[in-house]
Amino acid sequence: MENEIIQTYEKNVLVIDDSPTVRHKIKLILKRARLFDNHYEAENAAIGLSIMSDKHIDLVICDVVMPGMDGFEFLQQMKSTPQWRDIPVIMLTGQDQIQQKIYGLDTGASDYLTKPFNHGELIARVRVQLKVKQLQDELKIAKQRYKELSVTDFLTQIYNRRHFMDLFNLEFARSKRYGLDLSLIIMDIDNFKHINDTYGHLMGDKVLREISAIIKTAIRTNDTFARYGGEEFVLMLPQTNLEGSLQVAEKIRQKIEEKAFEGPGRITLSLGAASYPSKPIEDQEALIKAADNALYEAKRRGKNCVVAAEKQ
Ligand code: GH3
Ligand code: MG
Ligand code: MG
Repeated sequence: MENEIIQTYEKNVLVIDDSPTVRHKIKLILKRARLFDNHYEAENAAIGLSIMSDKHIDLVICDVVMPGMDGFEFLQQMKSTPQWRDIPVIMLTGQDQIQQKIYGLDTGASDYLTKPFNHGELIARVRVQLKVKQLQDELKIAKQRYKELSVTDFLTQIYNRRHFMDLFNLEFARSKRYGLDLSLIIMDIDNFKHINDTYGHLMGDKVLREISAIIKTAIRTNDTFARYGGEEFVLMLPQTNLEGSLQVAEKIRQKIEEKAFEGPGRITLSLGAASYPSKPIEDQEALIKAADNALYEAKRRGKNCVVAAEKQ
C-alpha cells in the first residue's frame, strides 16, 4: 500500500541556532523535561538539513536570523520535501518581530517562540506540537487502515467486489482506448452448499480461504483477483486473449482438483472465460455477462470444467 508509515520508537529533536548559548540552553531544558531520547544540534541551516537527511527527527526548533541560509529558507526546504513536510518546526524569533512570526506561520512553521524565552513556555509549546504530530500520525494510520478495509474482503483477504468493479471499469476503458485484449474469468465452487451442510459453515469458510490462496499462486501480478460473491471469484487478465485466459482457467481448475482438502477432500470449480474485443462484447457489462453465461454453461455441462464464452 502507498504511504507506508515508518514507526520509530525513539523521539528525536533538532535544534538549529548559530548561538551556542541558545542551543545549549534549549537542550538543557528539553533534557530535563525528558521529552526526547536524542538531542541533535546544528550551528547553521545547512548542517541542520544534513542531520535531517541522516536521522529521524520528530521536531525542529530553528532560529530565524542566522548567517548563510536563514530560518525561513530552511523552513521552505523542509516543507517542499515530502518526507519532512509533516515534521513540526518551532521558529525562534526576536522580541517584537511580529512580521517574522506571521511570515513563519504562513510558510508552514507550527509555532514560534520569542527570545528570551521562558523554560515553561518552551516545554509547553513543544508538548503541544508533539501531541498534534502524534494525532496526525494516528489519523494517517487510521486512514490507511480504513482504505485497506474498504477494498478487502473480510473472509478471504482478497479484493472485494466493489473494488474489483472499480479496477475493472478503469482497465476496460484503457483496453478500449488502446485496443488491448482484456479477459475475464468467473469461477464458482461446485456443490458448495453440500460442503457447508456436511462439514459446517466454519469449514466452508476455511475452504473459501484455502481456495483463494491456491488461486493466488496461479496468477500473475498484473491480474486482479477478487471475491465476486459468496462462493464465486473473478479474475481479470489485462492484455490476455481468450486462449491465454483459457490456459489460466484450466491451470486453476487443475490446482483445485488436485488439492486434498481437510474434511471434504476433493473440491472442484467451474469456470467461465470471456474476452474483449470480440464480436458481441462491446462494453463492461457485456464482458461480465458473457463470462457469467460461460460459467452457467460449465455448470450445465456437469461442473469441474472451463467453458469459453465464444464456444458455447
Ligand atoms: P453449484 O455447484 O451449482 O454452484 O451449487 P452450490 O451448492 O455451490 O451453489 P449454491 O448457490 O446452491 O450455494 C452456495 C452456498 O454458498 C450457499 C451459501 O450459504 C454459501 N455461502 C455463501 N457465502 C458463504 C460464506 O461466506 N461462507 C460459507 N461458509 N458459505 C457461504
Ligand atoms: Mg457453487
Ligand atoms: Mg454460486
